[in-house]
Amino acid sequence: MPRLPRTPIIRGLARDCDCNPPRPHGGIHGYDYHACGCEPCLKGATRYKKIGTHLNATGRTRRRAAEPVRRRLELLKERGLTVRQIADESGMSFTNLHLILRAEQPTVTERTAVAVMSVKVPSRRAAA
Ligand SMILES: [Zn+2]
Ligand SMILES: [Zn+2]
Repeated sequence: MPRLPRTPIIRGLARDCDCNPPRPHGGIHGYDYHACGCEPCLKGATRYKKIGTHLNATGRTRRRAAEPVRRRLELLKERGLTVRQIADESGMSFTNLHLILRAEQPTVTERTAVAVMSVKVPSRRAAA
């Protein structure tokens, strides 16, 4: 799922998620990745941003531990995916994934964690 470069979000214009697996409208994903302007996605995005603002205001972040994400990346590589393929699948940058693999950062953003963890792990047979 290559990230769409700054597609304008048009209120009322829905854009379906074509990711694998597809994600429903109403979360930050549709708004953020597909520039979906449907009512649920706009509401979801507003809610997402509100929570982020609240977390920042109270000194917390949405960041998550990098280790489980790193382990997932290792597993995906073991099963035959290249970092480039994982980057394309997850919509994350190649560099970002590399930094995680090199264990150079203790935490990752929630968006990165969710994107990497949702990349489908190929079965052993497919990799062989
Ligand atoms: Zn999507
Ligand atoms: Zn939507």
